[in-house]
Amino acid sequence: MLTQKDLIFFRIQSPLPDPMHKIAATLLLFITFFTSQSQNAYWQQRVEYSMNVSLDVATHRVNGTQRLVYYNNSPDTLTKVYYHLYFNAFQPGSMMDVRSRNLPDPDRRVMDRISKLTDTEIGYQHIQSLTQDGKETSHRVNGTLLEVTLTKPLLPKTKTTFDMKFESQVPIQIRRSGRNNREGIAYSMTQWYPKMAEYDYQGWHAYQYVAREFHGVWGDFDVKITIDPSYVIGGTGKLQNADKIGHGYEKAGAKVERAPGNLTWHFIAKDVIDFTWAADPEYTHDRVQVPNGPEVHFFYQKNEKTAENWKKMQDYAVQTFQHLNKYFGKYPFDTYSVIQGGDGGMEYPMCTLILGEGPLTGVTGTMAHEIAHSWYQMTLASNESLYAWMDEGFTDFASSEARATFFPTENPHAGSYASYFSLVASGLQEIAGQHSDHFSTNRAYGTAAYSEGAIFLQQLKYLIGNESFYKGMLQYYNTWKMKHPEPNDFVRVMEKVSGLQLHWYLRYWIYTTKRIDYAITSVAEKDGNAYVTLDRLGEFPMPIDLMVTYQDGSMELFYISTNELLGNKPAEDNAVKRNVLTAWPWVNPSYSLKLSKPVAAITSIEIDPSQRMADINRKNNVWVLGDKTSEYKDPTR
Ligand SMILES: [Zn+2]
Repeated sequence: MLTQKDLIFFRIQSPLPDPMHKIAATLLLFITFFTSQSQNAYWQQRVEYSMNVSLDVATHRVNGTQRLVYYNNSPDTLTKVYYHLYFNAFQPGSMMDVRSRNLPDPDRRVMDRISKLTDTEIGYQHIQSLTQDGKETSHRVNGTLLEVTLTKPLLPKTKTTFDMKFESQVPIQIRRSGRNNREGIAYSMTQWYPKMAEYDYQGWHAYQYVAREFHGVWGDFDVKITIDPSYVIGGTGKLQNADKIGHGYEKAGAKVERAPGNLTWHFIAKDVIDFTWAADPEYTHDRVQVPNGPEVHFFYQKNEKTAENWKKMQDYAVQTFQHLNKYFGKYPFDTYSVIQGGDGGMEYPMCTLILGEGPLTGVTGTMAHEIAHSWYQMTLASNESLYAWMDEGFTDFASSEARATFFPTENPHAGSYASYFSLVASGLQEIAGQHSDHFSTNRAYGTAAYSEGAIFLQQLKYLIGNESFYKGMLQYYNTWKMKHPEPNDFVRVMEKVSGLQLHWYLRYWIYTTKRIDYAITSVAEKDGNAYVTLDRLGEFPMPIDLMVTYQDGSMELFYISTNELLGNKPAEDNAVKRNVLTAWPWVNPSYSLKLSKPVAAITSIEIDPSQRMADINRKNNVWVLGDKTSEYKDPTR
C-alpha cells in the first residue's frame, strides 16, 4: 500500500504534467484524510486452530499437534510468517530476564527470578516439525519468536495450512503463565501454544516478549486437552463433551460416563484472539447465570481464605456484566469463567485468571477489571502493545464505573487522576502513545496505560457531554467489535456522534506530554460589571466550563469552547442556566468575559466544577470573593 511518505516522494520526483499533479494532490488529500484504517478498506487476517495436546502432570510437559489454517486477507503476498513462543521468555538470559534486571522499577513478581531458573523450572517451546500444505518448511527460533520461511508465497486472499508438532515445558510461575502459582494452583496455561503473530496494514507485529502486552489474530479454536482425570479445567471456549467430563460441567442431575484413564477435554471457541486454560485437581466449580447474559463459571480452591468471598463474587460478577452490557455494548459470548490462577489478574477471551485469596474489595475489583477486558481487548481487540491505553485505560474506566454500582464512591475515576498528577509531579511522565515495551519505567507505562487511558475517556465526557459520550461508546462497540480498532477509529466514531472535531485532543493527550493548566487571573469591576480574565498557563488547549455562584444563591454556567472543537458541546445540566460564549482561539494565552453584575454580587467562580479536566493545578481554578488566597499570582510575571 502507498504510504503518505511514498506519495510525497512520488510527487517531488516525477515530472508530471499539471493535470497529473492535480490528481496526485487530490490523492494525497484523500490519503491524508483517511489516515490509519477506514471501514471500507479494512481487512484482517484469520486463523483456525485445531490443537490436540497432552499435559503430563509429572514432568510438566505438553506434547501437542497444531493444525493452523491461516487466511491471508491482506493485499500483500507473504513469504514469511512469525509465531510467538512465549514460554521461551522464561529462560535465564532471555530478553524478558535482561529487561527486568535493567528496569529501575522492575515488576516484583519478576525481578531477577528468571535468571535463577534451573533446567527443570524454565519454560520452553520446541518445534519438532512444521509443514505448510504438507511440505516441510524452514524455520528458525529467535528468542520468543519463530520465523518461518514459506515453502511457497502466500498470495493475497488465499489460505494455507500449517501442521506443527511441538513439545513445551511449563515454567515455574513467574509472570502470567506457569505451574504452582503462589496460591498453589497447579497450571496457569496462558500464552502456552505457538501462536501466529498478527499482520496488518502496518506489517508484522512480531515483538519479542518482555512481559507487557499482547496482540492476536481473530479466529476459531478447537482444542483437545488430555490430562490426569483428577484435574479440573477452566478456560476459553465452551466444553463440548461435558457428559464425558463431569467436574461440574454436566447439566444438573445428568449422568456422567467417563472412560477409564486420562480425560480428554474438548473445547471450542469462535471469534476469539487467543485460547487460555488453567487446571487444578482441587478446583471447586460454581456457576451463576447473568439475566440476558452469559453463564459465569467460577473455579477456585475452596478454603477459609476463599470460600466466603468467592460466593459473594457471584453476585458482583452478575452486576458487572449487567452494567457493562447496558453502557458499553452486549457481551458477545454465552459463557465466561473466573478462574483462580496466575499472579494477579489477567484477561483472556471468555475467561480471566486472578489470584483468589485477597480481601473482598480486592478480588472483586480485580474481577470487575478483568471482566471489562471482555469489551476492551477481547471484543474490541486494539493492538495492546501499540495502544495499551485503549486496552487498560478503557477497561479501567468501564470497570471503575461498574464497580461503583456495588461499592459506591463519589468519583470512580478519582484514583486515575491522582496517579496521573503524581506522575507529572515526579518528572517521569512519558508519551502515552509509544510502544508499551519501550517505556523507561514500569510506573510511567502503568500510569499512561491505565490512568491516562481512563482519563482520556472521562475528559472526553467533558469535551462532548455525557449523553454523546455513552452513545458513542455503544456505537464504537457496535462498529468495531471483533476487529482491531485503532485510536483514530475510536475518535472518528466520537466525532460522528458528537458533531465535534476531536483528533487534536487525541494528539495532545496521547502523543505529547503537554499539560492542561487554566487559571482565573483577575476579577475586576468597571461601570458596575465584573470582568473575569482567564489564562491558559499550560500548552494544552481545552474548552472551559466556568461556573459563577452569586450571593443570592443562583448559579450560572459560562461555556467557552476551544476553536479546535469546531462547535459547542450541548448543555449537560438543564437545571443551571448556560451562556455559550465565543470560542477561545487556542493560540490566545488569555480570555476575558463580562458578567453583568458587580463583583460584590458574586460568591465564587470556578473553572470546570465537574473536575473532569486533568488540570495539573486546580488551586488557581477557583476564585472566592474576599478570599485573598484564591487570588492567583503568576510567579513568572
Ligand atoms: Zn487490565
